[in-house]
Amino acid sequence: MATDIIIIGGGAAGLLSAVYLKKQNPQLNIRILEALPRVGKKLLLTGNGRCNITNKNINLSRYHGSDVSFAEYALNKYDLYFTANFFESIGVPFVFEGEKAYPASLQAGSVVDCLRFSAEESGVLIHTDTKVTNIQTLKGKYRVWADKLSFVCDTVIVATGLYSGGYKVGSDGNMFELLKKAGFKTVNVTPAIVQLKTENDVVKQLKGIKVDANAALKAGERVIRQEFGEVLFCDYGLSGPPIMQLSREVPRNKNSMVLSLDMMPQIPFNDLKAQIVKRAENLSQRPLEEFFTGMLQKRVGQVILKQCGLKLSEKAGTLTVSDIDHIVKTIKSFDFKVLDTTGFINSQVSAGGISTTEFDNTTMQSKNYEKFYVVGEILDIDGDCGGFNLQWAWSSAFCACDHILRNK
Ligand SMILES: Cc1cc2nc3c(=O)[nH]c(=O)nc-3n(C[C@H](O)[C@H](O)[C@H](O)COP(=O)(O)OP(=O)(O)OC[C@H]3O[C@@H](n4cnc5c(N)ncnc54)[C@H](O)[C@@H]3O)c2cc1C
Repeated sequence: MATDIIIIGGGAAGLLSAVYLKKQNPQLNIRILEALPRVGKKLLLTGNGRCNITNKNINLSRYHGSDVSFAEYALNKYDLYFTANFFESIGVPFVFEGEKAYPASLQAGSVVDCLRFSAEESGVLIHTDTKVTNIQTLKGKYRVWADKLSFVCDTVIVATGLYSGGYKVGSDGNMFELLKKAGFKTVNVTPAIVQLKTENDVVKQLKGIKVDANAALKAGERVIRQEFGEVLFCDYGLSGPPIMQLSREVPRNKNSMVLSLDMMPQIPFNDLKAQIVKRAENLSQRPLEEFFTGMLQKRVGQVILKQCGLKLSEKAGTLTVSDIDHIVKTIKSFDFKVLDTTGFINSQVSAGGISTTEFDNTTMQSKNYEKFYVVGEILDIDGDCGGFNLQWAWSSAFCACDHILRNK
C-alpha cells in the first residue's frame, strides 16, 4: 500500500502530526498505524482525565535529558500560542488553572475526539490494531511492516511514546528496541513522574493523610532536588505532586537516598523551637496525644512524638529541652529511606530514550536516514509534571511536520 507519510503511533504527537500536515497540505496521503484498538489511549488518562495540555511557563528549566538544549528550538518556535491556535482551530479552546492549561471542556476525551474527528474529516487513514514490527529502507523509500501487512512510503514519523503508563496504553517500547537494534544510540530509560516506595512503616500509620511540606531528595547530606507541595502518605510510600516531581532522580542515582519532609517549612528551626517551648508551658497539663492538635495534622503530630520515643499518655509539661530539640528536628526533617519508584506502569513519562544526538533539533529528522523523523516521548527529553510533556509531544511534532511540508 503506497502512501506519502506513515505515522507510527496514534497518540499525542502522532495524531497532531496527521492533522497538522493535512491542514497545511490536503493533498498529502497520510496513514496512522496504531497498535491498540483505538487511538489516544494515554491521552485519555492525562491530567486525571482532564488533560493538562500545556503550561503558561514553558521553559527549558522544566525539561530534562542528556542534552536538554536539543528541545529549545522546537519549544520556542512552537510555543503555547502556536499550540493554542492549533487546538482552537480543531475545536479545543484552552482554559487556565494557575499556570496549567486544560481544554475548556476539562475532558481529556474531548481532546482525543477533536484530534480524531479532524484527522478523519481531512482524510487521514487510521489503521488501529496495527502494530509496527519492522521498518526497511527501500530505494529512497521505506517499507513499514505490521506483521504480514506492509506499507511503502516516502516519509516516516515515529511517534510511539515509550514505557510510561504500561502496555495498556500501548507503551511496551517495541519501537525503542527496534530503533536500538537498527543502530540508533539510546540513553538508559527509567520511570519519571511516579510515586516512591519507601522503607518505613511510619508511612503506613499515616496512610491517606495529605500534608503541605517541603520535600527534599537527599543522598547523604547532599540535597539532589527539593519541591514544595502536597505530599500524600500511602501504604507503599509517598505520593503527591512534589514527590512525583522528584521521582525522576531516584533510578538515576546509585547512592541510597532519603526523602526528607520539612512539615513546617515556613518557620525557621529556632523560631519553631521557641514556639514549641512556649506551647509546652501553655499546654502543660495536656496529654502528648493531643499536644500538636491545632498545630499539625493530629495523627502526624502523634507519629512524630512516637518517633521521638515519647509516650503519648505523658503530659506536655514533662517535655525536656532535649525532647523539644528532637521533636523540632523531626518536624523539620522527617526522613524516609527511598527504596524505588512504583515503576513504569504508574509513571507519567519515561526519562531517557533514543539519543537526541541522532537528530537535527530544528527538524527532528534523523541525521542518517532522510525523511525519517522521531518525535515525542521516545526521544531522550522529558518534562516536569504540569503540561510540559504534552507540550514536548506537540512542539516536536509541529517541528517535524513543518520540515516535511517544506520538503514536499
Ligand atoms: C497517567 C498519565 C497521565 C499523564 N498526564 C499528563 C498531563 O496531564 N500533562 C502532560 O503534559 N503529560 C501527561 N502525561 C504524559 C503524556 O501523556 C506523554 O508525554 C505523551 O502522551 C507522549 O506523547 P507521544 O505521542 O510521544 O506518545 P503516546 O501519547 O504514548 O502515543 C504513542 C502511541 O503509539 C502507539 N504505539 C506504540 N508502539 C507502537 C507500534 N509499534 N506500532 C504502532 N503504534 C504503536 C501507542 O499505542 C500509543 O497510542 C501523562 C502520562 C500518563 C501515563
